[in-house]
Amino acid sequence: MPDSKTKYIFVTGGVTSSLGKGIISASLAKLLQARGYSVTIQKLDPYINVDPGTLNPYEHGECYVTEDGAETDLDLGHYERFLDSKTSQANNVTTGRIYQHVINKEREGAFLGKTVQVIPHITDEIKRRIHLLGQTGKYDLVITEIGGTVGDIESLPYIEAVRQLKWDPEVHCLVIHLTLVPYLATSGELKTKPTQHSVKQLSESGVQADVLVLRTEHPIPEEVKHKVALFCNISKDAVIESANVETIYEVPIKMQEERLDEVVLNKFDLPTKAEPKITEWKSFLKRLKNPKHKVNIGLIGKYIELKDSYISINESLIHAGTVNETEVNIQWIHSESITKENVKELLGDLDGILVAPGFGERGIEGKIESVRFARENKVPFLGICLGMQCAVIEFARNVLSLENAHTAEIDPTSTDPVIYLMEDQKEITNKGGTMRLGAYACEISEGSLAEQSYKKSSITERHRHRFEFNNDYLKRFEAAGMYASGRNPEGGMVEIIECKDHPWFVGVQFHPEYSSTVLNPHPLFIDFIAVSAKDNLQ
Ligand code: GLN
Repeated sequence: MPDSKTKYIFVTGGVTSSLGKGIISASLAKLLQARGYSVTIQKLDPYINVDPGTLNPYEHGECYVTEDGAETDLDLGHYERFLDSKTSQANNVTTGRIYQHVINKEREGAFLGKTVQVIPHITDEIKRRIHLLGQTGKYDLVITEIGGTVGDIESLPYIEAVRQLKWDPEVHCLVIHLTLVPYLATSGELKTKPTQHSVKQLSESGVQADVLVLRTEHPIPEEVKHKVALFCNISKDAVIESANVETIYEVPIKMQEERLDEVVLNKFDLPTKAEPKITEWKSFLKRLKNPKHKVNIGLIGKYIELKDSYISINESLIHAGTVNETEVNIQWIHSESITKENVKELLGDLDGILVAPGFGERGIEGKIESVRFARENKVPFLGICLGMQCAVIEFARNVLSLENAHTAEIDPTSTDPVIYLMEDQKEITNKGGTMRLGAYACEISEGSLAEQSYKKSSITERHRHRFEFNNDYLKRFEAAGMYASGRNPEGGMVEIIECKDHPWFVGVQFHPEYSSTVLNPHPLFIDFIAVSAKDNLQ
């Protein structure tokens, strides 16, 4: 059942992939939110995986985790960072999930002997998922981003669902189509033909775009916009330019200048009187663009060829930098390249070292070497998930002299498994969606660095792991100077470790990067940058 109050905005893409539908969706949502509307964003992904949890980061970038424990597309991270509000499983739907649901229903006999087909059964399920967010009654507007590019075989059922919704008199919706206007340097011209073709392709599927957003590297003259409007059956004011900007956080400001929010509201006959209140956002941008200090942070990971693999960490460092009026210069360092012999040369100039999350053996010894370098040379250190586990292994090997210490993930036969499989993971054989996922509570010890950062003793943070600190070793660790400053109140699981006798050495089993937003940067990242930048302050 559609919710008659909620308006739906679909964002489709044409010409090429990677044009930034997620950022356009998040920017529009930001402007609408700043005008007082409640809005959320949903992503429909056309692949057959049930979720991106089983995907290698090289395939799909980071896997983002919501508070309710859904493993989702990285665009949901942008949505949360822009809107400063939480998303959930309902905000990310994949073709795999749609089919799984429909096939399960078929096995239950729910279709009463009917042939199950793409239209109407798959498209009905897509529409049901789109309406789920509207039906919560929480949102004036739901923006649904359709992954992929118009014309892909995979996205056809989604476009068909949009077509049906556009024809449903009970549903108020519109379509924003994002395309590319390439610039031909040889002739010095901006070319609109790919956009025309893409809009035509969309209309061949029965969907007329209502608003066009044109990605471009050069300003688009008015007459070119008029031409596009004429050829694409779009009103002139609804052809919006989206020129390249220095940072993604400028896009809402650009979209406001282009009146994207106003055009959308007018099309829905919604009031546009109140201008968006984005003062805080603008002051964030001002600080971002006018840093007073600089800091060099080494990000030690094994997927660094694709920076999207660590996008939430990257953004959290940027957010924390603005709080400290510091430009964060991230040095991406491949953990596989780090050895005992070259660690000083590779990490010697860094002001802070962050060891990234990850899975599997590749590059782990380089991560452990990096921790050792940070600990021994008193370089501020933040270890996240596998990064924290590496800090534990390093301490066991080099301080407790447990030479064979390891994580059972990599060496199941280690005589000193200081990191081992969580009890409730032991029976699990399926890989998808079976880790310890989502928000769990953590109690912080008094007087710890974590307490200084969070300024409270009870927190919740998001998780994505199977292995944990082996509490049989805790006493030995604490006696030697590494202590558990955060623990899960139920099972006593170690959530945060810190090193005494070090300016700032913090390892977290959870993922603070998932909850840092533009308006609420994460306290651990803020302090990590503050301490790292300390010597750089004038
Ligand atoms: N591979 C480790 C585990 O499963 C760490 C996971 C991570 O870094 N997200 O516990």
